Amino acid sequence: MPSIARRRLLNSIPALALSPWAGGGWAAVRRVSAVPGGVARIPFDGTHPAPRVRLGEDRVLVMREADAWVAHAGIALSTPPGSIVKVQAERADGVAESVEVEVAPKAYAEQHLKVPPGKVDLSKEDLARYERERAHLAKVLRTFSEAPPATLALQTPVQGPRSSSFGLRRFFNGQPRSPHNGMDFAAAAGTPVVAAGAGRIIDAGDYFFPGKTVIVDHGQGLLTLYAHLAAIETRVDERVPAGHPIGKVGATGRVTGAHLHFSVFLNAAAVDPALFLPD
Ligand SMILES: [Zn+2]
Repeated sequence: MPSIARRRLLNSIPALALSPWAGGGWAAVRRVSAVPGGVARIPFDGTHPAPRVRLGEDRVLVMREADAWVAHAGIALSTPPGSIVKVQAERADGVAESVEVEVAPKAYAEQHLKVPPGKVDLSKEDLARYERERAHLAKVLRTFSEAPPATLALQTPVQGPRSSSFGLRRFFNGQPRSPHNGMDFAAAAGTPVVAAGAGRIIDAGDYFFPGKTVIVDHGQGLLTLYAHLAAIETRVDERVPAGHPIGKVGATGRVTGAHLHFSVFLNAAAVDPALFLPD
């Protein structure tokens, strides 16, 4: 039985869907709500061609659902609760609409670690490498290809127990670090890792923090990322079906033990993988 959140993401249209374009006017601004790290579902009239939808500079995934178009906007973990995120839609005939996403609070767990200062601060060389890689990965994660994914339902990338640590707020010696932007799977080194959905490999590299990493483009800005791999068994530009092996679980990068770190991105925002995976 899928969780309520996943069911809602995958196959229901909320009451707000009622006649979004009705009345011939655009006076009423529609408002939906979502949590940081969640997905805002915004339905649009299905009698026109698909609208182009944007959040800031990034295109937003739009999927056909029955007789409607539904935009799925990823809400970044860093978005403050209580704030309003504006999503801009443009219909094929040029008519524009702005939809407001009210960001609701979500209490993610906190983890406080005391570590020797030398372990927190990177050397000049490591910092330079990290900055370079961060810029490269940020660019890759903004990939948007027009062909939509066949489904938003992903399959589990590795057999093994999952942590529920998405969104975990980490502090080293009292200093906030970036929150945990994925789901960790416990699995022995060497366990096969498969693509969670059909797509194209858009990045495969060995990076300072995530170690050996593969990124798959599923279409319309839906991307998945697999980190800390012992081995990469694919190459950039390869097209893979869902369930296709792409590597092996490992402990590369900055980690203390073998596990798979799995992230899901929509419009370049990391969203909770649990929304897409089977229970
Ligand atoms: Zn992780």
